[in-house]
Amino acid sequence: MTVPPPVRVRVHVEGIVQGVGFRPFVHGLARELGLAGSVGNDAAGVVVEVEGGEAAVRQFVVALRERPPALAVVESVRSEALPPTGARGLVITGSAVTGARSALVSADTATCGDCLVEMRDRADRRYRYPFVNCTNCGPRYTIVRDVPYDRATTTMAGFTMCAPCAAEYHDPADRRFHAQPTCCPDCGPTLVLEPGGPGDPVREAAARLRDGAVLAVKGLGGYHLAVRADDADAVARLRAAKHREEKPFAVMAGSLDDARSLVEVGPGAAEALGSRRAPIVLLPRRPGAAVAPAVAPGNRDLGVMLPYTPLHHLLAAELGVPFVLTSGNASDEPIAHVDDDARTRLVGLADGFLTHDRPIHVRTDDSVVRLHQGAELPVRRARGYAPEPVPLAFDVGRPVLGCGAEVKNAICLAAGRRAFLSPHLGDLTNPAALRSFHEATGHLGRLFGITPLVLAHDLHPDYLATRYALDRADAEPDLETVGVQHHHAHVAACLAEHGATPDDPPVLGVAYDGTGFGEDGTIWGGELLLAGLGVYRRVGHLATVPMPGGAAAVREPWRMAAAHLGDVRAAVRDRHADRWDAVVALARSGTASPATSSVGRLFDAVSALLGVRDTVTYEGQAAIELEQHVDPDERGTYPVTAGDVLPGGELVAAVVEDLAAGVATGRIAARFHHGLADATVAAVARLAGEHGVGTAALSGGVFVNAVLLERVRAGLEAAGLRVLVPTRVPCTDGGIALGQVAVCAARM
Ligand SMILES: [Zn+2]
Ligand SMILES: [Zn+2]
Repeated sequence: MTVPPPVRVRVHVEGIVQGVGFRPFVHGLARELGLAGSVGNDAAGVVVEVEGGEAAVRQFVVALRERPPALAVVESVRSEALPPTGARGLVITGSAVTGARSALVSADTATCGDCLVEMRDRADRRYRYPFVNCTNCGPRYTIVRDVPYDRATTTMAGFTMCAPCAAEYHDPADRRFHAQPTCCPDCGPTLVLEPGGPGDPVREAAARLRDGAVLAVKGLGGYHLAVRADDADAVARLRAAKHREEKPFAVMAGSLDDARSLVEVGPGAAEALGSRRAPIVLLPRRPGAAVAPAVAPGNRDLGVMLPYTPLHHLLAAELGVPFVLTSGNASDEPIAHVDDDARTRLVGLADGFLTHDRPIHVRTDDSVVRLHQGAELPVRRARGYAPEPVPLAFDVGRPVLGCGAEVKNAICLAAGRRAFLSPHLGDLTNPAALRSFHEATGHLGRLFGITPLVLAHDLHPDYLATRYALDRADAEPDLETVGVQHHHAHVAACLAEHGATPDDPPVLGVAYDGTGFGEDGTIWGGELLLAGLGVYRRVGHLATVPMPGGAAAVREPWRMAAAHLGDVRAAVRDRHADRWDAVVALARSGTASPATSSVGRLFDAVSALLGVRDTVTYEGQAAIELEQHVDPDERGTYPVTAGDVLPGGELVAAVVEDLAAGVATGRIAARFHHGLADATVAAVARLAGEHGVGTAALSGGVFVNAVLLERVRAGLEAAGLRVLVPTRVPCTDGGIALGQVAVCAARM
């Protein structure tokens, strides 16, 4: 009997394969199959050479693709034959820094079950250690300074592993084999409470929170402000410190059961809450939930999340009640993430700091999702999601940077078939957010080895992201710029994440949002577009009305009511009697009153009419509170004249009539939502038939509204259309950059 000669192959694995335990997995797999060889990281991913029997080698290559570790995303496995060398055993080599950098850095991941068991085990050396982590969990994107992903390129570089940690790190059989942030109480970061107290910082912090203190707590991507959620005085104090801001605060519940005491948790919600991404999930608040009213004023929903770092787990267990955990900042500033800066900015807001000495390299907010048909609908995409790429169905050709929009900015860098969307960066008119924007353009490029050759930007000339693109192209003449219409970008983002290519036939795009620069001199925001990735045509829209005072009308929704009502009598007019006539005159004159087809502004008008919201303190507030005002039992609707121009004025007139008849405002809010949805469905279904289109794509920030989204979707599906909704990127301006990239690439 002859032994068949051994074979040797070199395998390149690309995708999210660094920092996710891929090399230990390969090591174990090779041992299991009796193969020899080597495994290492290079800038593009993992490179393996194995040698052994032909069948075992084949099995090995199949397993790389089919059963990778939990956090790995394998995008490609390429193998080439090599001459056997007679090697024995398997070695793990260091990282090679040569080659094109396209290895993917993974997102920060919630503490895994194994680490929690250790943390709760009195006999374990990491008992109650607030920084326990392993290959399957812990900080990633927020601590990575550069690639290849190794300890030296993270903010853990300053912590030298002790002998037991180093042994785990080097043991191929260990759960921490090559886990870069591996550490323990002897060698890792230290938690401190300032001002200090007797004993354990977590116990002391919990005691102070229990007594109503506001504490700044350093998390994964920045500092939070924490206060117990059921303490009305403490929550009110926090709100006052944050400059009267009315945005709802998120609450951290210690466990899924604790979350169930606060909000209705369906199966989809339980999955999202408990996922390794651990987002804030917006869910219906339970009657009698022990949460102070000031946590989420004017809101029936509550944003809830579960602990996602060991420190959160310790704090939640010690405190025993849900606590507010809101980003550490004043009003609309970005979350503080650098220690000195946090100290300066939060010192007046917090009674103390629960902090540590592991630096945060990249500011990253908590992600926010809603649920739509049991699946996640992203509202803010940041920690746990970014910088995971959105796979594209086509090659973008020349690398593109999508510069995004203004208020909910995120940028998108794309090369090949991958689009890397940065975490939410915030409102660029804020200097700190603008700084993050500049840093992100450099950091993402370095991390993924992408140098853009084209900059895609919004058509709005005054967006700071647009100015960045145009200024940079001025300074670097080789850079090309491509302007992309705002609502086309919204629709394209939805199409791109659903696998569209530039050759696909057009769809009926419905882009409803606050405001975006139109191509006809008006402000768009209620657009029906016959759109593919490369081109679009505006085939319908909401009827235009003047926006009296321009930006002032965005801050003061009652002005939109004035634009619609004119001399018609209504309570909102009485509330603003001193300025009403002047604002109506302004609207009629056209001076400083641009025409807008924005659905967001229509929501504003109705919100003010119903007395829900006359002025706002954050973007979208009037529309959000109007949705919260909807009576869920109301079935009525407002029929409007059919046409390609949706008559928003008819909806407003119906609202005024119902108000005069004394109909409850919750029922009117419901009828308005239904009327707008029904008018949208009728127009889209008719246009789709006219243009021979079988698919509709819904996008734009207005579709965060669940009442509207569900009714529009159901109506279009009943009309026989396939309906696409954003599921990987937000439908808000936070997803615009992906659309800019897709449109730009499709045109080249
Ligand atoms: Zn772990
Ligand atoms: Zn150690």
